[in-house]
Amino acid sequence: MNIVQCTFCKKPFASLGGRACPACLEQIDKDFITVRDYIYEHKHSNIDIIAKETEVSKQIIMHLLKEGRLIIDSPDGDGLLVCEMCKKQINTGRLCKECMGKVSSSMDKNVTANKKPEPKPEVPNIKGSAKIGN
Ligand SMILES: [Zn+2]
Ligand SMILES: [Zn+2]
Repeated sequence: MNIVQCTFCKKPFASLGGRACPACLEQIDKDFITVRDYIYEHKHSNIDIIAKETEVSKQIIMHLLKEGRLIIDSPDGDGLLVCEMCKKQINTGRLCKECMGKVSSSMDKNVTANKKPEPKPEVPNIKGSAKIGN
């Protein structure tokens, strides 16, 4: 078990691999439901409006998008998320479908060829890179 700093409240906590402390995880789950319900009713909202109307921080909304728990329902994906491998615009998760296919097939090979897991890549700093709407 490692002591790491919570991504959200910056407090140190004992992590089992996650980057959010238990208190923030609980808050994120509540925020998830708030945002999800809001998106159901307002299909083509952008993240600024969602954050303002739901009072959920953009950081948490982005976190939910990257986890694949939320999907941007917008014709151009709002440019919020790009595939971490090919930089194509995506509307949920961290990789596009094609790259996801590539990664999972290469992971299959790794599992059989090499039992030792690779160190996890750092989550890139997305601050300042988010373009929303027009
Ligand atoms: Zn926290
Ligand atoms: Zn890709």
